[in-house]
Amino acid sequence: MENYVVIITGANSSSGIGWATAMEMAKKQPKAIYVTDIRDDQLPILAKKLQTDYNVDGIARKVDASSEDDVKAVVDEALATYGRLDVFFANAGICLLNQLHNETKTNFLKTMEVNAWSVLTAIQHASAAMEKTSEAKPKSGGSIIANASIAGIRSGAGPISYSASKAAVVSLVQSSAWRLKGKNIRVNTVCPGFIATDLTQPAINALNDMNPQAALDQNPLERFGEPIEIATTVTFLASSESSFINGQDIRIDGGFGRSYRHVP
Ligand code: NAD
Repeated sequence: MENYVVIITGANSSSGIGWATAMEMAKKQPKAIYVTDIRDDQLPILAKKLQTDYNVDGIARKVDASSEDDVKAVVDEALATYGRLDVFFANAGICLLNQLHNETKTNFLKTMEVNAWSVLTAIQHASAAMEKTSEAKPKSGGSIIANASIAGIRSGAGPISYSASKAAVVSLVQSSAWRLKGKNIRVNTVCPGFIATDLTQPAINALNDMNPQAALDQNPLERFGEPIEIATTVTFLASSESSFINGQDIRIDGGFGRSYRHVP
């Protein structure tokens, strides 16, 4: 990833996947990583760590990933400053815990806006910028990665609107891979299983109140994942090492999505 310019959304929390991915990518010596989030209380700390630990330009920007104007502004800034954009990790997301009978239109539309529209607008603006920098692009081309979820693939694995929004992300990425034909831009999703982060803390608390072992029992590895276990795959998808991987949904879930409870 030498000389690459990267944008990551949803990177404000030190216990989150976006933060872990920025730190993991920095080991590959890109030129710059824009770390963005709708909250910016921690972002400057991350940006500084990228600089001091890895000598990578770390730039913190407050970006609402569901705002087309905000996304366009940070993409334009990267292009104006560095003349290129190589990687966009559309990672920002929300998870409201409602299920079928108590879901509301407001929650549903908000979830779709933050989780799915954010990915579509990211693909639109990032791919336009990557096209402009095609001269500078290596064989592996531009790489856009969206954070979907196993909940978007395996029904019932998450709250109803969250699962629907992540299924939309998987579909948007598959369509985009084809629509970007001939442009040397790859688009993939990662589909994490249950990772212990701020996002899942309310669900973990609810599980602990009921039956702490129940969620772990559903996973062949009998544990939750860690952000770094997603970050390594995202970094691989961003790098030239994955140059022929395109339009894929990569499950990183300890085997949860393929497994069924043992039948005695
Ligand atoms: P996290 O809470 O650390 O990260 C989510 C981040 O998105 C937060 O920093 C939050 O401030 C930010 N955000 C929310 N709305 C935003 C907006 N409109 N614009 C910009 N930023 C916004 O939790 P995480 O688990 O690291 O989540 C990262 C991504 O991983 C999410 O898309 C989530 O759906 C996905 N994911 C997580 C899990 C899991 O088990 N943790 C599983 C599958 C997928």
